[in-house]
Amino acid sequence: MNAMNKVLVVGGGIGGLCAAIALRRKGISVDLVELKSEWTVYGVGIIQQSNVVREMSRLGLLDAYLEAAYAFEDVAINTTEGQQLVRIPGQRLAGPQYPANVGISRRALHKVLSETTLELGATVRLGTSVESLEQDDNGVDVLLTDGTRARYDLVVGADGLYSKVREMLFGNQYLPRFTGQSVWRYNFPRLPQIDHLANFQGPAGNAGLVPLSDDLMYMFTTSHEPGNPWMPHDCLAAEMRKRLQDMGGLIGELREQIVDNDEVVYKPLEAVFVDEPWYRGRVLIIGDAAHATTPHLGQGAGMAIEDALVLSEELTGEGDLPQQLARFMARRFERCKYIAEKSLLAGEKEMARDRDFDRIGLVKEMLAVTAQPI
Ligand SMILES: Cc1cc2nc3c(=O)[nH]c(=O)nc-3n(C[C@H](O)[C@H](O)[C@H](O)COP(=O)(O)OP(=O)(O)OC[C@H]3O[C@@H](n4cnc5c(N)ncnc54)[C@H](O)[C@@H]3O)c2cc1C
Repeated sequence: MNAMNKVLVVGGGIGGLCAAIALRRKGISVDLVELKSEWTVYGVGIIQQSNVVREMSRLGLLDAYLEAAYAFEDVAINTTEGQQLVRIPGQRLAGPQYPANVGISRRALHKVLSETTLELGATVRLGTSVESLEQDDNGVDVLLTDGTRARYDLVVGADGLYSKVREMLFGNQYLPRFTGQSVWRYNFPRLPQIDHLANFQGPAGNAGLVPLSDDLMYMFTTSHEPGNPWMPHDCLAAEMRKRLQDMGGLIGELREQIVDNDEVVYKPLEAVFVDEPWYRGRVLIIGDAAHATTPHLGQGAGMAIEDALVLSEELTGEGDLPQQLARFMARRFERCKYIAEKSLLAGEKEMARDRDFDRIGLVKEMLAVTAQPI
């Protein structure tokens, strides 16, 4: 078997932290470098579906994770006027005693993941990145931006959409592209009826409400933004209300409470998908660095987390590194490609206002696909 003793993880987001945790649990030494000198994330939430709850259990994180999250079962799709089209029951993939799905604030998730990473003994350097990588058959010589030099058995680029490691491996072959849509998000006090993921779809657009804690939920809505216009900060609340102006029901009622520009989180959607393999020799990319897609299926972070877990399993499995990484690709490529493509498709159908598109069918299919063991 190949000796995998020391790994450098580049990027301390969801994928990089989960990789650090998974590798440390297998006894592999981990250094992690994160570009941001303050290790913070923005303050809205994220949906994590049953496959992610299952993988959090396999990462040994489930109790702390559930403590920080809002557990829920079902996913409902309603018309924007409030008529329920379908209510899809949750799948308890982590075991009958655990919830099917969770909503969690990004900050709460980051706290659980970063604290666990440090507790497990990974070395974390903030405000630092990779300056250069030079590899031979037996290792990778790394120069960090703080001047540190070290040699690693493997470098894992988990440095997101604008990955520097991806550029080091593939040059300009893969560049993020704007998909044509943006997402607007806003936190509200949680309403008692939002004890599940509530999607609202209609001719005027799509929106959703996600519970994050007993006291908090967030609203998201997607909009078509041809040309990716710049949104001035002092117009954000008014612009978000404008995107929701034709929606009635609960979304219409909540719309009027969107008044604080500082609380609007606006994000143009960008995507990139790297063809297999996602590695060259001893340098690999995972998560958004390899397969960033739109949030229409709520699975981007889920795929990054799965990447991390599968990597740790394969690196401690049979064979040499090329065989281990080939098995990693075999377990990850089609699954991530499916999520990437179907998420983009859902966005394209929204932009085309295609009323015949079977979104409910796609959500059900995605839940069945992601429920499959990796
Ligand atoms: C609007 C929106 C909503 C979403 N909602 C969901 C959802 O509900 N559910 C879900 O599963 N997914 C969701 N996603 C997707 C999810 O956020 C991403 O897939 C996930 O964050 C990817 O994790 P990552 O660790 O690969 O990348 P990131 O989270 O981007 O982390 C990358 C990290 O690397 C650091 N970094 C960058 N460059 C360097 C460098 N050169 N050196 C060192 N460090 C570097 C960054 O600072 C960052 O900390 C959503 C995405 C968007 C845009």
